[in-house]
Order: sequence, then C-alpha cells, then structure tokens
Amino acid sequence: MEKIQLPINEYENEILKAVTHNSIVVIIGETGSGKTTQLSQIMHRHGFTKSGRVGITQPRRVAAVSVSRRVASEMGVRIGEEVGYSIRFEDRTSDRTCIKYLTDGCLLRECLSDPELRQYAVIILDEAHERSLNTDILLGLMKKLVRRRSQDLKVIITSATLDGDKFSSFFFKCPVLNIPGKLFPVEILYSMERPASYRESALQTAIDLHTQQPPGDILLFMTGQDDIDKTVSKLEERIRSLDEGSCMDAIILPLHGSLPPEMQVRVFMQVPPNCRRIIVATNIAETSLTVDGVVYVIDPGFVKQRQYNPGTGMYSLDVVQISRVQADQRAGRAGRTRPGKCYRLYPFSVYEHELLEATIPEIQRSSLASAVLHLKSLDLPDIDVLKFDFLDQPSRESLEDALKQLYLIDAIDDDGLITKIGRQMAELPLEPSLARALIAANDLECLSQCLTVAAMLSCENVFTPTSSKGASKKRERVDLNLPDGSGMGDHIQLLEIYEEWHQNHYDVEWCKNHGLQVRSMMFAKDVRQQLSSLMYKITKESLDVMTKESFREKRIMIRKLRKALCVGFANRLAQRMERHNGYRTLCYKAQLVQVHPTACPLEVDDDGLYPEYVLYNELLVTSRPYIRNLCSVEASWVKPIWAKLQHFDIGKLSGRALSTEELNIPTQEVTNCSATVTPKLSENRENIIQSARERFLARKQLKVKK
Ligand code: ADP
Ligand code: MG
Repeated sequence: MEKIQLPINEYENEILKAVTHNSIVVIIGETGSGKTTQLSQIMHRHGFTKSGRVGITQPRRVAAVSVSRRVASEMGVRIGEEVGYSIRFEDRTSDRTCIKYLTDGCLLRECLSDPELRQYAVIILDEAHERSLNTDILLGLMKKLVRRRSQDLKVIITSATLDGDKFSSFFFKCPVLNIPGKLFPVEILYSMERPASYRESALQTAIDLHTQQPPGDILLFMTGQDDIDKTVSKLEERIRSLDEGSCMDAIILPLHGSLPPEMQVRVFMQVPPNCRRIIVATNIAETSLTVDGVVYVIDPGFVKQRQYNPGTGMYSLDVVQISRVQADQRAGRAGRTRPGKCYRLYPFSVYEHELLEATIPEIQRSSLASAVLHLKSLDLPDIDVLKFDFLDQPSRESLEDALKQLYLIDAIDDDGLITKIGRQMAELPLEPSLARALIAANDLECLSQCLTVAAMLSCENVFTPTSSKGASKKRERVDLNLPDGSGMGDHIQLLEIYEEWHQNHYDVEWCKNHGLQVRSMMFAKDVRQQLSSLMYKITKESLDVMTKESFREKRIMIRKLRKALCVGFANRLAQRMERHNGYRTLCYKAQLVQVHPTACPLEVDDDGLYPEYVLYNELLVTSRPYIRNLCSVEASWVKPIWAKLQHFDIGKLSGRALSTEELNIPTQEVTNCSATVTPKLSENRENIIQSARERFLARKQLKVKK
C-alpha cells in the first residue's frame, strides 16, 4: 500500500501533543482529511495501544465495515487481526486486535458488561457531527468516564463541521484542533425555481453534465434506496440510448446503507480511463464515506428522515429539506481533488431562507425507550434520566413517553427502578419490545419460536421486492405458496416461513423459488444463532428450531407465542375501531390507522369480525398512518396492561425527579396521552363497532340468499 499523505498526517505532532496533555480533545477536519482512517493509526504508531485498544465509533454499520477494511489494507494486515470491527450481530475482532472500529450502538452495549470500558486506552467518537442518538448518549457517558479514568483514558471527538465550540464547552472547555482542509473552490449553481420532480430534474442534470462537461465523476444525492434504484436504472437506460461515441463511457454506481458488501467496494474501485462514474448515493456520501474523484455534485436538497411523535407513538418517514450545513457538506464533495461544481436544484432564496441552519439531532426526533433503558441499566449512582447531561436535551415529553413504555413492558418498576427483566432486556441486542417478548416466551415455553420471529424481524426485508405496487405485491406473495401465518398475522407467517425453510435444509433454491431474499434469510439464520447463544445464558436449554407436527400442537404453540409477543409489545397494541370492506382498510386505534396492504390476512371470527386487538411492529406514517407487521392478540391478554396503565405515576418513574404535580399533567391525560391501548371503549365507538357488525351480518345474509 502506498504511503498516504492526508491533511491530518501533517498535524500528527500537534495531535499527539494535545492528546498527551488532555483527556479529551476535539478534532475538526473537512470530510476526507483522514480523521476516520488515520487517527487510529496515529495513536497506534505512537504507542497508545500498548495499554489498550483504540476504539473508533461509527454511526453507520457500512462505514464501520468499509473503513476498517481500508485501514487493515493500509497496514497490510488481515481484517479481524490487528484491525477489526464489531457491529450488531457480527464481531470481527480477536485478541490481537488493537484498532477496533465499531458502531456507536455496540460501544454502548459494551458499557453494560464493562462500564469503565477497560479494554480501551483511546476512544474516538467519530462523525460526532452526525449527532446520532447513540453518539449523543456516549458523549454524556464519556463526560463521566474521563473523570473516573483520568489517568489512563483518552477521548477524541471528531467532527466534520465547525461545531467545535459546542463540543468543547460541553467537555469542560477542552482544546479544539482544526485541521485545515485542502478544499478546491466549488462553484455553486442554483436552479431558478424548484423542479416539479426532483428525481426527474436530477436525472436530466446528470445526463446534461455527462454529455457536455469535461471528465470528472458525478455524485448525485437521492433520499433512499428506492429512489436510488429507480434513478440508477433510468440513468442506465438514457445513457445506453445516447449515440455511440458522442461522449465518454459512464458507469453508474448506487451507494447506500443496505448495499451488499461486494457492491459497496465497487464504489472505491478504479475505473478504466475515459470512463465517468456517476454515483447515486444517500446522505451516506455527505460525510461518512468519501469517494475521491468527484467533480460534479447534484443536490436536489432533500433527505429522508425518521421522525418519532411521542404524543401518538407514531413514526413517520418523511422526505424533508436538508439543512444548510448538509447542503455545504454536499457541495464540498465536489472540490476534493480539483475545482468542482455543485448544482443545487433549488433557488438561492430557498437555501438562504427555508433551509434550517443545522439538522435536528436524532435524540430530538426518535423514541428514547431503548436509550433510557440503557441509562437505567448502567447503575451509575448519579444518573437521573430526566437530568442526564445531554449535549442537546430531548423533550420531556419524549423522555416520559420512554419511561411509560418501559414501565408497560416491566423493564422498570413503579418507582422507576430497573427490574431484573429490564436488565436482561438491556443485554440483548434487540429493541426493548422484542427483548421483552423473548423473556416472556421463555416463561411460556415457546422461546425457540420467538427467537425465530425476532431473527426474522431483524432483517430489513425477507421478501424479494417487486417493482409492482402494494396490491399485486400481496397477491404475488400468496401465489408463491408461502405459509399464510395461520390467519394470525405477519409474525406467525415469518415463523412458518423460517420453519419451512428449516425443513428444506436451509436450501437457497427454496428461498428463490418462494420469492425470499437469500441474503436476508441467511442473515436471519445467523442472527437466530447468535440470539440463541445469548439467551442460552438465561435458559441453559437448547434452542434449536422445533417444529410442531400436529395441527393441535401447532395451534397451542402459536397461541403461546402470540401471548409472549403481546407482553413484549404491550406498548404497541391497537384496538379495532371499525370495519370497512376487506381487511385492507381495517382500522385500528383512534387515529384511524390502517393495516398496511402488504400485511398477511387475518382470520375472522364466527361473526366475521377481525380480532379486536392486534399488536404491531411498526406504526408508520407515509401517505397515511399504517401499521405494519401485525399479529392478532386476545382481549384477555390486554386487560392486565390496561390495569397497569391506570395507575402509574410519571414522577415516580423518572426516579422521583419530578412529581406529577410539578409536571403539571392531569392524571387523566397521562393515561390517555400516548396510550397505545385505550383503557375503555367509548360508548360512541362501541356503537360504531356494533353498527359495523350489523352491516356485515346484513351483507352476509344477502350473500347467502344469492
Ligand atoms: P474523514 O474521516 O476525515 O472524512 P477518511 O479517513 O474517511 O476521512 O478518508 C481519508 C481518505 O481515504 C479519503 O481520501 C478517502 O477517499 C480514502 N478512503 C477511505 N476509505 C476508503 C476505501 N474504503 N477505499 C479507498 N479509499 C478510501
Ligand atoms: Mg470520517
């Protein structure tokens, strides 16, 4: 590997001096200056790894894997030896590992078994500007940790944006090192007005650039995988249709977080001369992965953002405008190797007046259940969740929402203290609901099945995506002869699919023939294996896949499993509101959320009614609010959860930091505010259901007559 000269290497001495004399140092450097790949090596070269590892956190899994591979190859070692990585469900480190890249979530989990993080001599919280929820929590924890390990721990915070002062004042006014970037000038061009379709406009701009502009790669920002796939195939089509020899060749490369590894590396590979790369990426290319050679950037100005509403418990996935900081980062990608151009597909007035100054940190727009559970389980004497030292405080509403959710699933008790169950949950690399379901399943003797469900839910999507829209997607699934969930919903269907695959000896062809993604299924198998070994610590029993032969046995087992899931998803139950034609518009919850069209069919009872309650994995607002991945539950299982909701005291849950009075929330409202289960059917609703029932029976009569 050639010797690499990056801006950061020129400041090696300054960095060493600062780190030697201070426990915490903030390093600010332009994207691509070498923070992620070089800092760890600098620390290693200068002996810091003699007393422990260098751990470098990344907010994204893709970055942790790709960057550690890069560093291993620069150092001429095999991945997993001196240089390794650790991400959820995959640990590629060994005793020899002294440079370890890991996701911020992984480091957080390591705090549980080793609160002082003794394996590390240096911790680098990288990409702090991304302000991921986990990094924000780590920032607060590091502040405590450096006091306790002031003699033997070094913490470095890196950021690509100029928010050094904010970090510095958070960390006792620690020094900030600015690494001047070698950015070439980037000319910024604005559109006169906003295009009707940003995708179409981006596409056209890319083609114009390719046919008219001198060599240099093009980087085009899109909002998500869907967008990227469509753009890539349209670009390919249009470029093929250009006259042969009228312009240089082009190779089009997608880049996003769920790209398989072999596709990721393609972005970093050399291209033949006289060939232009057009990279179509999500905001992953803004700061966390640097692709050299880009001269033209096309920025439509949008990003896909998940937003949690603690009042309703709903997540929405919205395409929103980027912030000015993001716009500037994107433009900067064009000037890495020589002067470049950035085409903003919006007018200057939008940049100046409409874009937010900076992106809202994740901590202010996500559910905090998992984070709060984590903080509670750390047992730090001075941690009061509502008073935790956050760089940016989350809203009180979302902290309370998290406390309530944790209380409902027995992770904390009436006094807000973590329970034994809560501790077990925190150890599992799963979201709290799934972790709780596993523990309940162990008690109900259906753990093996629940493990399978948890593993299947951990995959992004096991079904091969079809280009067609919702309705036909569902039909195709049925046509493929997949199990149908026995009328109990998606969780059960996932279980049945996995068990059938197991009976087919995990055959790859079987997956393909049934419209399942091989990679996802393999991942599920791997995850199941890992979860089993984690649960084994609790159960000491073998957790192999066990399929039930007789119909009766199977029914009983499924019922137990649904019950266990109900315990775990107590904070995500929905009550039937009204029944329309067909299950697709079956409505649950007061907000009239609908069952997603891809859901597998639910069984109706003797009266033709769908289950009164379902649990759901996700409540997502797209064009309208949908619940996805649902499973029917029985009304009697829901009763104890209601009861619990009736008498909880948010003041006590937060560790008596505040009494209900201080919070100024009337008790009545507390029970209703984000209650996912409405304690009592209002009369009105009872009527609605009654009349729906009557309408249904009338229709049924009509049919019989025909
Ligand atoms: P920073 O963290 O400051 O943004 P990095 O350390 O990620 O910078 O990148 C430094 C340089 O290393 C960049 O020029 C980048 O292109 C290069 N680089 C990083 N990862 C890879 C990779 N996987 N393959 C090839 N080059 C890479
Ligand atoms: Mg970086």
